[in-house]
Amino acid sequence: MATQEKAPEERISQFDYALLPEILQSPPMGHHRKFHPDCEFLLGKDVGNIAKYDVRVQNPENTLSRDDKARYQEEKARLESFKNWPFYAQGMAPRELSAAGFVFTGKRDIVQCFSCGGCLGNWEDDDDPWKEHAKWFPK
Ligand SMILES: [Zn+2]
Repeated sequence: MATQEKAPEERISQFDYALLPEILQSPPMGHHRKFHPDCEFLLGKDVGNIAKYDVRVQNPENTLSRDDKARYQEEKARLESFKNWPFYAQGMAPRELSAAGFVFTGKRDIVQCFSCGGCLGNWEDDDDPWKEHAKWFPK
């Protein structure tokens, strides 16, 4: 599994000011391709990237325990799980998600239904949690 997190450090040490105008001009993908031609992500390998419009996360990694299930039957408890809801997902209100039965998993913007255990992520600002739930996890 490629560790993309380590890239910035490496990039700084290799940084060449002569390249700056080119860096500013070339679109990210072109730049990426040029300077990291062997990047596994660019080669289409599975490095764990989740594209913005990729299929929703459907395989719950951490299935809710029976205790959690019981606890999260309460909407208030579900809402409290959204304490560290990421800033980039603020377009989706935790109140709406918890009302639709979702609990925040603590990973990215992935939420899990307390009832069926289905996980959804990559929320868009105009998503409707109820519709998304019905769409991805029809009964
Ligand atoms: Zn469900």
